[in-house]
Amino acid sequence: MSRIHLLPETLANQIAAGEVVQRPASVVKELLENAIDAGADDIKLIVKDGGKTLIQVVDNGIGMDEVDARMSFERHATSKISSSEDLFRIMTKGFRGEALASIAAVSHVEMRTRPEGADLGTLLRLEGGKVAGQEPVATPQGTSVAVKNLFFNVPARRKFLKSAQVEMRHVTDEFQRVALAHPEIAFTLIHNGNEIYRLPAAKSLQRIEHIFGRKMGERLVPVDEQTDYVRIHGYTGKPEFAKQRRGEQFFFVNRRFVKSGYLHSAVMQAYEGLLPEKRYPPYFLFFEIDPEHIDINIHPTKTEIKFDDEYTVYNLLRASVRHALGKFDQMPGIDFDVDPGLIPQRKPETGRVHSPQVKVDPDFNPFRDENAAPFLREPRAQTPSHPSRDDMPDQWQALQELFGAEDGGAQQETPVFQWQRKYIVTQTREGLLIVHQHRAHKSVLYHRLQSQLQTGELPAQQLMFPEVWEYLPDEIRLLEKNLEKLGEMGIDARVENGTLVVQAIPAHAQVPQIKEYVEELLAYWAEDIPLEGDQLEKFMLLTLAEKTAIRSGRELPAREQQQLLAELLALPESRFDPSGKPNFVLISTDQIDRQF
Ligand code: ADP
Ligand code: MG
Repeated sequence: MSRIHLLPETLANQIAAGEVVQRPASVVKELLENAIDAGADDIKLIVKDGGKTLIQVVDNGIGMDEVDARMSFERHATSKISSSEDLFRIMTKGFRGEALASIAAVSHVEMRTRPEGADLGTLLRLEGGKVAGQEPVATPQGTSVAVKNLFFNVPARRKFLKSAQVEMRHVTDEFQRVALAHPEIAFTLIHNGNEIYRLPAAKSLQRIEHIFGRKMGERLVPVDEQTDYVRIHGYTGKPEFAKQRRGEQFFFVNRRFVKSGYLHSAVMQAYEGLLPEKRYPPYFLFFEIDPEHIDINIHPTKTEIKFDDEYTVYNLLRASVRHALGKFDQMPGIDFDVDPGLIPQRKPETGRVHSPQVKVDPDFNPFRDENAAPFLREPRAQTPSHPSRDDMPDQWQALQELFGAEDGGAQQETPVFQWQRKYIVTQTREGLLIVHQHRAHKSVLYHRLQSQLQTGELPAQQLMFPEVWEYLPDEIRLLEKNLEKLGEMGIDARVENGTLVVQAIPAHAQVPQIKEYVEELLAYWAEDIPLEGDQLEKFMLLTLAEKTAIRSGRELPAREQQQLLAELLALPESRFDPSGKPNFVLISTDQIDRQF
């Protein structure tokens, strides 16, 4: 008897689904692309729980009749190519005809669709790839595809889904990429009932501003260069706005988002001598090229690209970005070989932060007294204990100074109260102080962790029972590469049988926080241009502080409120959190008086 047999169709589809559908964001990408291919000019994306519960795309495109609606879920069913020559002329987003079949194989799908001219549309329900119902339905022209309970029948995949927050970030990335590539189409994104983006049809620069804010527009210069082979256009960042972290950097080839370390290095070469080390400018660069010259078929999710003349593209890209930067800097005329030391350095981040409503005195510093050393204490052990007043004379002295007890003699309790479980409110000599509890604690932790790291690794607590966390193979590879870094952060872990075995976590943290932390790190390591050295360390510390800090929404006893205030105000920079956002606002008595 033959040992070889054909896979049942549903199983074959599930396996194919593994390639196309990795997480909610992959579904988002496929559905948005189908809507664009259908000629829609208004597309709505509705998501629940980061896409784990629902991903729905509603378009006003050409729609499908009953037969096409059924056909669209068949594997290799596509209206977009019919011969192998077509492959080299492809201008649509999709062409493999496997997205809908793959998505349907691992979820519950409900499609409503109506072509122009038809009175009624079609409602089609599928469960795990099998048609579970079909009926005529009144529906607007166009198509709505709702994908529910992704991976409901593949528990091994479902459990790899990350927190709704992390999945939502991937969804948002995907949405932004598609929206940036198609400014002439209106897009809306709704998450858990909240409108995240409503983007009207616009010009390319406006679209960038609608997504990333007006400020972004002011930081860009236009790029436009054309040869017979390729046209490169778009926007690139003025050098002084380059960020320490890789941020908004996008390449699109024929309106398709692509990742390319190669193209990125061409852009970075154009900035040579204009940027301090390890700074990354934003850029939004579009390539228009005859599809014959590219191979977009080398990866199932199609974010990688190969040009048949890579060398020309590289040089042209570098030259056009340089040209754009040179044109913008009219005044001294940029000499590209200029000494980097002569280039104006970017202002420190905190200098640009403004609190919109309440004026913050920029010179306000409760610790003009330089003797007030930064407060360091051992991380909280598993049973939280709080240092007594006597343990921290500096803080109390400082607090008292701030709160108005002149000589420290009057040991009265400082009045504090928590507002909205989010802010700590107290009075000072200068006025009313409103402190953001999460950011304040994040700042305190960041500072403490940073000092601890300077003397070695972060203190760790051994877990009684090691935690075993499962990840996808790609993620395991990333973790393996970064085990040492995790060790420095107090996470003692090893990779075993494709899992991460965690034996110790940072002393101040709890297991679920560290699980989220690792997920967060993975999301960043998966980016194509990883951080290195100091940048990576800073990022890891900051994220650890973020994940382990007291959250908004937690009720704090008065004692803890006071302690947090004391620790915050003892920091060398207490006004801003490490990412430059204000930790508190001070409303002066004068400002209040003026309101009456
Ligand atoms: P591909 O996009 O690679 O052709 P898909 O599985 O994504 O494959 O879609 C299969 C077919 O279903 C498409 O070729 C198209 O004809 C049809 N289709 C899918 N989504 C839509 C939509 N939103 N509007 C109209 N037709 C659609
Ligand atoms: Mg498609």
